[in-house]
Amino acid sequence: MREKLLALARLAEMDDSARHIDAELKEIPQRLEELRNNVQTLETMLAQERQQLAEAEELKARQTGELKDRNEGLQRARKKAAQASSIREADAAEREVEANRRGIKEREEELGRIGQAIDAKTASLAERENDFEAAKGVLRSEEESSTTRIVELEEQRHVLLAGRDELDAKVPSAIIKRYERLKAGLTNAVIVINDGSCTACRMALPPQLTIELQRANELHQCPHCRRIIIHKSVIED
Ligand SMILES: [Zn+2]
Repeated sequence: MREKLLALARLAEMDDSARHIDAELKEIPQRLEELRNNVQTLETMLAQERQQLAEAEELKARQTGELKDRNEGLQRARKKAAQASSIREADAAEREVEANRRGIKEREEELGRIGQAIDAKTASLAERENDFEAAKGVLRSEEESSTTRIVELEEQRHVLLAGRDELDAKVPSAIIKRYERLKAGLTNAVIVINDGSCTACRMALPPQLTIELQRANELHQCPHCRRIIIHKSVIED
């Protein structure tokens, strides 16, 4: 058992030395995912704004057409007024002239508002397009640098974990499983103690446990923090 515990301690030490690498390897894809989401969001917003601009342009074209009709109507009404042969006809023509004038005024006001909306939308669209291009640029360069970084980290990891498989083979799989489970939630899942307390959680260990730890006949966990504890003498012998 002593040898198995020693192998486990070495293996855990090795894993600890590569922990910052594992953390970075996990973080890189998360960061890229965030950047991709950002690009995606901007793309969606851009599409919406383009759609809104297209709708405003369409409205402008429609209003412009109506303005033209009104202008033609006004000319026809004026002609009728000029050619009226009775007061009744003249009144009717005059009312038509007025109606067209009102229509023209309304269309012109509406076109003014649409024009302002189009200008504002065009400006914000240009800004959004810049943001979108910038976000794509950041994503591209991060993707490139991440690829290089991942290769670098994998190499470092490979060096740090050289011989891990041999150690792993020396530890019973039930213990490895327990270790892996603990490692998922704890830093330093295996700790080495040299006195009567847990080095990780600082709690005092029962004296009987300290004696058993020195005998190294079985696997022990700290009763307080659940970490696997191995006595220093096991490592040093
Ligand atoms: Zn503890």
